[in-house]
Amino acid sequence: MLTRCLRNIISSNLRHSTRQLSYVSRIRLLQRLKEDTGFCKEQLGAGQFLLYSKGKPLLGRSTSGETSPIWLNHTSVGELMDQNFELNCAVLGLSETGVPQFVLNIGETVGTSSLEQENKGRFTDLRVGLFLVDSPTAHTLSRGWSLLLWKKNTKFCTKCGNPLVLNLSGSQASCPVCFSVYYPSTSPVGIVSICDPSRDSLLLIRQPRYPPGMYSCIAGFLDAGETLEDCVRREAAEEVGIEVHKVSYLSSQHWPFPAGSLMIGCQAEALPGQEPDPCKVELEDARWFTRNQVQEAFDRIKENPGLRTRKDNDPEKIFLAPRGAIANFLAGRWLNIL
Ligand SMILES: [Zn+2]
Repeated sequence: MLTRCLRNIISSNLRHSTRQLSYVSRIRLLQRLKEDTGFCKEQLGAGQFLLYSKGKPLLGRSTSGETSPIWLNHTSVGELMDQNFELNCAVLGLSETGVPQFVLNIGETVGTSSLEQENKGRFTDLRVGLFLVDSPTAHTLSRGWSLLLWKKNTKFCTKCGNPLVLNLSGSQASCPVCFSVYYPSTSPVGIVSICDPSRDSLLLIRQPRYPPGMYSCIAGFLDAGETLEDCVRREAAEEVGIEVHKVSYLSSQHWPFPAGSLMIGCQAEALPGQEPDPCKVELEDARWFTRNQVQEAFDRIKENPGLRTRKDNDPEKIFLAPRGAIANFLAGRWLNIL
């Protein structure tokens, strides 16, 4: 609950949003935006909007080559807000000065080229865009698409079958009949770098859908009742037939596909002397790579991130998932360069 005093501070900050807010002030303001629909609606006029079209965010490139979201004010997006806009809009966060930030999904019939020209940006494939921006921005993009998808797909109460009422911010949906409440879901995924200290090598795997030459780390969704350590040990056994121990957490990353996941990055050690036996259904290959080979694969994608989206790469020239993907970070940590 917000006190009257804090409400006054928040109102004042929203009207005069030129100074940086403290972290706590921003979080409490964001909490009110998420939970108080009347307040949230009032703030639309002062908000910044990030547009998505068919899953693609509107991104721009600065003269120095940095890619970032294009934020539009309420006046610029007013005509894109039809009577259904509340189903296509959600709260993304707050700028450092306390300006509310929203994501807005534009209709499929809206022409995108004029918007791109007017705003000097491009509606960019999200799988590409996530690797062009810095980590906080990638999480903002990921949150935006996950919330829009959740709003689009959350229609009926799973207990009684009646239509749900979604709030504007995208923080919850409630059933007016049985009063059940639903929240945007995030699925936990364990992703792990597996090393064998006895041969100073790292295990990398290849899925058939990867572009030629790309290798990555083992990953899989947590099963019900599993710990993260259980998940990682099970995935290693299922996917490559290798038993691991000494599982430890390193870092995490939100990922908008398939519909909002939390990639939980771990490292683990294989019991010595095991050879991978890749699961033929999920994997095309799994191999131990020496430190020099992993370094080469790391350098190759760093020098040429475009390899990630090309289909005509030399399959013998191994490269890792690009910077911005947690698999890249896990491999970099094993190399002791990140
Ligand atoms: Zn219900």
